[in-house]
Amino acid sequence: MTAPRTVLVTGGNRGIGFAIAEEFVAQGHRVAVTARSGEGPTGTLTVRADVTDAASVDAAFTEIESELGPVEVLVANAGITKDTLLMRMSEDDFDQVVDTNLGGSFRVVKRASKGMLKARFGRIVLISSVVGLYGSAGQVNYAASKSGLIGMARSITRELGARGITANVIAPGFIETDMTAELPAETQAEYKKSIPAARFASANEVAKVVTWIAGDDAGYISGAVIPVDGGLGMGH
Ligand code: NDP
Repeated sequence: MTAPRTVLVTGGNRGIGFAIAEEFVAQGHRVAVTARSGEGPTGTLTVRADVTDAASVDAAFTEIESELGPVEVLVANAGITKDTLLMRMSEDDFDQVVDTNLGGSFRVVKRASKGMLKARFGRIVLISSVVGLYGSAGQVNYAASKSGLIGMARSITRELGARGITANVIAPGFIETDMTAELPAETQAEYKKSIPAARFASANEVAKVVTWIAGDDAGYISGAVIPVDGGLGMGH
């Protein structure tokens, strides 16, 4: 049984972030989501924030702190792709993806750590990808940003581990969201052939693992990379 916590999920208006926020609400927590557009699930506080902008992140945290209290559980989920082959990848394609996925996580983690240090409690969950370890043709920018999260979580673990703060990485494989719906049907069929589970996962299957790693029962796990990928990345 986990005590009710104040939880923030970035990018909680759709996809995996929405499912994670929904699951935390179902488990009785106080949940805020950031969104640039749209709203989080019923029962959540939606605040506007762009994770590429530190001032916007700071304002979102200030609003959450006054409505729900300091953030105890942070799920850095907001992310984008800009896929193309290395030879065609522009500086801008690279920078935007790294600045959102890796820089955005840094900004929210840094801001959340203030309250966590004071409380001597915190759960930081970074949403990476199987691609961060496995690699993926056409995703040099995305894979680099996602493997960077592993170094980030492990460094946070070493820096803040003695203060009751854990930092872990969840590495989903292919999940049914807008991001994967963009893939052509033949590509989806091809991917399914290489996944031992022979299917994509629902976003809720990721959400259940995130709520567990953020819960009281997982307090001695930190710096871990937990795959939710149907076996796709085994050994990586
Ligand atoms: P979606 O494309 O469905 O949603 C992305 C979310 O990120 C949206 O809520 C979006 O907000 C938010 N976001 C993007 N850029 C910013 C920004 N600059 N500031 C604030 N929020 C932003 O993605 P998924 O749900 O599929 O993915 C969620 C996470 O899971 C990502 O980090 C992704 O890399 C990772 N992942 C996804 C997999 C999959 O198969 N789908 C597999 C492995 C990892 P808005 O709508 O307002 O733009």
